[in-house]
Parts: sequence; structure tokens; C-alpha cells
Amino acid sequence: MKELTHWINGKHVKGGSGRFADVYNPATGEVQARLPLASVAELNAAVEAAAAAQPAWAATNPQRRARVMMKFGALINEHMDELAQLVSVEHGKTLPDARGDVQRGLEVVEVCMGAPAMLKGEFTDNGGPGIDLYSMRQALGVVAGITPFNFPAMIPLWKMAPALACGNAMILKPSERTPSTSLRLAELLQEAGLPDGVLQVVNGDKEAVDAILDNETIQAVGFVGSTPIAQYIYGRACANGKRAQCFGGAKNHMIIMPDADMDKAADALVGAGYGAAGERCMAISVAVPVGDKTADALIERLIPKIEKLKVGPYTAGEDVDFGPLITKASHDRVKSLIASGVDQGAKLVLDGRDLKIQGYENGFFVGPTLFDNVTPDMEIYKQEIFGPVLSTVRTQSYEEALSLVVDNEYGNGTAIYTADGDTARDFASRVNVGMVGINFPIPVPLSYYTFGGWKKSAFGDLNQYGPDAFRFYTKTKTVTARWFSGIKDGAALNFKAMD
Ligand code: NAD
Repeated sequence: MKELTHWINGKHVKGGSGRFADVYNPATGEVQARLPLASVAELNAAVEAAAAAQPAWAATNPQRRARVMMKFGALINEHMDELAQLVSVEHGKTLPDARGDVQRGLEVVEVCMGAPAMLKGEFTDNGGPGIDLYSMRQALGVVAGITPFNFPAMIPLWKMAPALACGNAMILKPSERTPSTSLRLAELLQEAGLPDGVLQVVNGDKEAVDAILDNETIQAVGFVGSTPIAQYIYGRACANGKRAQCFGGAKNHMIIMPDADMDKAADALVGAGYGAAGERCMAISVAVPVGDKTADALIERLIPKIEKLKVGPYTAGEDVDFGPLITKASHDRVKSLIASGVDQGAKLVLDGRDLKIQGYENGFFVGPTLFDNVTPDMEIYKQEIFGPVLSTVRTQSYEEALSLVVDNEYGNGTAIYTADGDTARDFASRVNVGMVGINFPIPVPLSYYTFGGWKKSAFGDLNQYGPDAFRFYTKTKTVTARWFSGIKDGAALNFKAMD
């Protein structure tokens, strides 16, 4: 059995705790590797070494740090297929989708090539007689990133690229289900010129996460994962005086107005609902047609498109639309949620529970599932299913549809399909969700904007990547400077305003 490692001080290091997690191939259901789970002592030692390496990295001029990002970006491009393969074999997503996972992470690295411009401070000449004020952005020190299974390349890159470009050292704790991509990215960063110790990949579970949260050297924690864990990590990190941004789960709705192009709306729902087996925080899991005629027309178009979807292992290449779920537990949970939808009175239009793929009978596959007549009191509406299940909630007016989105506890992404600019503008302005698509189903902003949800989809006050990331990973120091030549006054003891 292959045994994975940690990445400490520029080397692969065997785990020393004696505890391991199984890493599965979700398409076959087989264990393909065991992953060491770090102890508190291993985590603390990695932090200590990172703290020793960080000052020299922070003192490296920002343009040189940016050049490491340039080289890193080139290496990611060069190794794109290899990285995609690593993503697919542990996650199960298709190779084209895995390339997208790497690509959307690479785009954040590209923005970090311009980090020096983002790190410039402010200056006021002559704020008082002979007095200048300036502020500078300085690295925090050692920071931590804790990432989920579903984007094994993209989200670690969203964390490490801005944190490192700002001059921090990072402890990255990737998901124990999809760790190999992070280990490979660490090797590529070393090849790009990152000094050893500045990025430590520490594999682990709750024990390592709690050790991160309680470690006094770690200054900030960037987390992405499910809402209960996001809320827990935010609370404990803040209680320990750390800066924290914790992104959580989602229940993303798409409103379909009667004037929408129904074919385009149906295509968008198929891609956004079933892509990556629905295991995306920006997946659309609720279709909200306005009016029964709209709902009927939409369902009529959805059925043949969904029936055509091909589910299978990533090794089938371009010949498969989505793959398995991540674990047996997740597979069983999704199936039991489908059963609960039936029990609670939703209309099961397409049932993916009986899907069997020849040669992959033990894989964690669930076929595409479509519900109609879902109501907000049902479990399939209330829970983030994180599987290939699309629920249709019928509404009778735009206001009713909007209220559904507004009243939902999550606020990650949402979309509206309409031909009417006024309705679209009204929606974008009034909806309490962080990322909004207008005739666009998965509105993940480009890397020079920022990514973040509202309500229970995010805890903390700054978004991921883009300008917010440079604020999150630096602290501001403001200097008021006076040079005494020509100033003959004695000491001024009062706390006075500028003359
Ligand atoms: P998860 O919450 O189970 O795990 C995320 C991380 O937290 C992992 O590194 C894991 O090791 C750690 N963790 C898990 N349980 C823990 C515990 N009890 N104490 C401390 N740490 C713990 O999430 P997941 O299943 O890996 O990912 C799927 C979830 O992530 C979904 O809810 C999805 O919506 C969300 N997600 C959100 C975003 C976003 O940007 N908002 C992006 C991607 C995924």
C-alpha cells in the first residue's frame, strides 16, 4: 500500500503519529494509499520551522517573491495534465473538469505575479509641518490554510498563492481525502524557488486542525469546507486571537422567469446541477421556475438532457460527464436523502439511485436525479445534498421566488435566467447572496475580483483571492514621521490635532 507523507522543510517526511487515513479511488471503491495524520507535536514542529524560515522570505523584495509565482505559474501549466490526473484519481471528477480545477487555481497565481502593486502602502506628504504619514502592508508571519476535498488544486492555490506572495509562511492542511495534489504543488513551488520551510503541507484530521487553532505562532486561518466546521473554526480561531476567514456550504438557487430562454436555462441547470456530481459549493441545487407553465416547460426540456448524461470513471476521458461521489458515506447519505424526498412527498422525476457501472460496481456512483414539487420544509431542500440531485421548487411570482432565496440560510451563489434587464437588475440589487449570475449559472468571479458568500456560507469579513486576499494576509502599519532639523520647539505633551 502506498504511504503518503507530509512536506516539511522542502522534503517529504513520513508521518510519526502512527495514525493514518485511507485515501480511496472513488471510482473503484478501493483504498489506494494511506495518509499519515499529524499529531499535535508534528504540527507544532512544522510551525516552528515555518516561523524560522518566514523572516527571510518576508525580507525578500516583493518583486523577487512575485518571480517565484511567475515560475510556479509556468510549472503548473507545464504539469497541467499530471496535476489533473492527481485530482481525478483521488476526487473522481472527469479530466476536463480536473483541468478546470487546476486552471481556476492557476488564475489566482497569475494575479499574485502582480502582488508588488497590491502591497504598496499609502503616503501623505506634509500631514503637519515637516510631518509625513505613511502606511505599509506587512506579512502576518505564519498563517494556515485548511481546505476541502472538492477542489484539490484550486482551493489550496487560492490559499497558498496570496499568502506566500505577501511574505508569509503557510501551513497547509489539505483534505485527508484528496491530499496528493497539494504535495505535488509544494514540490513545484520548491522548483519555482520558494525557500524550504515557507510552505509546509501537514496532513491530518481534527487533531491537526485543533492544533492549528491553538498554536500561538499562527496568526491567521483561512478555511474552506462545510458550514458547521467553518463556524467552529471561526469561533475557536477568533477566541484565540487569530484573524480568520472561513467559507462554508451552500444551497444555490436559480430563478427561471417565464421570459427566459428555456433551452439555455435547461442547459445551464444540467451543467450547474450535475457537473462534478454536484460536489461544488457553487452547484445549483434548486431550480425555481416562476409560474406553472414555466415549470412544465423547463422540466420537459430537462428530462431528455439529463437522461443523456454519462456517468463513469474519469479514465473514460471525454466520454463521461461526471464521476462518483467522494466516499461510501457520502454515496449512502445522498441516496437516503433521495428516499427522504420521496417519503416527504416530492415528485421523483428521475431517480439515479440504481445506477450500476460495469466493472465499477464498488464505485461511489449515484446517477442524476431530478425532483419536482419540492417544498421548503423537506430535508432535500433544507440540506446541502452535495450530490447529483436537482430539486425544483415551483413559485407563482418573482417576489415569491426572490423571497425563497432571501430567506435561505445560505448565501453563496445564485442565478436568474430572464430576458428582462429590469428584473435582473432588481434581483442583483435585492438578493442577499455573495455571488450572482445573470443568465450565467455558476458565477465564480474571475481571480482579480473576490470570492465569498453571505449568511451561513462565510464567516469573517474579507473574501478569498483578489484585492481582499492581500488585505487578509497582511497587516497595516502606519508611521507618523517628523525630522527635527529646523524644529526648535521643546516637547509637546498634549495630544493635539495637526496644525
Ligand atoms: P469538511 O468541512 O468536512 O472538511 C473541510 C476541512 O475541515 C478538511 O480539511 C477536514 O480535514 C477539516 N475537518 C473536517 N471535520 C473537522 C472537524 N470536526 N474539526 C476540525 N476540522 C475538520 O468539508 P468537505 O466535505 O471536505 O468539503 C465539502 C464542503 O465544503 C461543502 O459543504 C461545500 O459547500 C464546502 N465548500 C465551500 C466552498 C466555499 O468557498 N464556500 C468551496 C468549496 C467547498
